[in-house]
Amino acid sequence: MRKFLVILPLLLLSFACKFENKKERLKPKIVATTSILADGIRNIVGDNADVVSLMPAGVDPHLYKASVRDLDLLQNADLVIYHGLFLEGKMTEIFEKLAFSQNLINVSENIPHELLLSSGPEAHSVDPHIWFDVSLWSLALAHASDEIIKWQPEWKSAVSTNTESYLAQLSLVHQDNITKVAELRKANQALITAHDAFSYFGKAYNLEVLGLQGLSTLSEPGLRDLTGLVSFIVERNIHAVFAEQTISPKAIEAVVAGCANQNHEIELAGPLYTDSLGAPDSPAGTYIGMVRTNVQVIFESLTQ
Ligand SMILES: [Zn+2]
Repeated sequence: MRKFLVILPLLLLSFACKFENKKERLKPKIVATTSILADGIRNIVGDNADVVSLMPAGVDPHLYKASVRDLDLLQNADLVIYHGLFLEGKMTEIFEKLAFSQNLINVSENIPHELLLSSGPEAHSVDPHIWFDVSLWSLALAHASDEIIKWQPEWKSAVSTNTESYLAQLSLVHQDNITKVAELRKANQALITAHDAFSYFGKAYNLEVLGLQGLSTLSEPGLRDLTGLVSFIVERNIHAVFAEQTISPKAIEAVVAGCANQNHEIELAGPLYTDSLGAPDSPAGTYIGMVRTNVQVIFESLTQ
């Protein structure tokens, strides 16, 4: 009997979930692939929709494979918003198939090609980490806002107001980044991280950026990268290197050890938030919080 009492609520719950269809929802449900994207969309739509992130905070989008539950979530959403530029590298086919039956927005599709950075010798390979340039991320979110209004024209007034106010906040963050990074440049510092996520940051704010691993976390750093990086750090008297939240610190720890062998003590700072937000109620739990947290950590560690 006791067993039955435990099982019954579970059965009711699964019954309720199965029968929660689009029509019965109080608000439309928008699924955004990454936590960074979901936060931006939440700011745009406000109370008009429930926005959920497919990938939880702390997850690496380059390697993420959708589960059966995820496919269910994507198919049952009223709108799916994804990053594009092959950030969700293992989900490309899913989006292609979903396009036949689902409302889909690719937030990066309208970014002018000349503003994108390439990720390798192949003409088609593009660096997906556009959110590190706050002005570029603003363009992506402005496009998402336009597409959301096309999808729900009756939201136009609210969504336009929300977007305008959010983009104004992002513009302030962008200006603050410019000011802080100028100090680092004066101090002859460079940003060295575990994977090449910060190229847009380097370009937008004019700072030299080096990554130990390729653009995608799929590739492993080689010994040659390591030796070259250690010499660079010693010669330039770089004060710190940075771990990343979604990546094992092993490779970047090897850089610190390599510097120690050359009698150059260096701080292993961070971890920086790169491809995911921090936990929901932490300072880096929003995009703005994440950018400000990162820039503060980078600034303090490199100017100490
Ligand atoms: Zn990445």
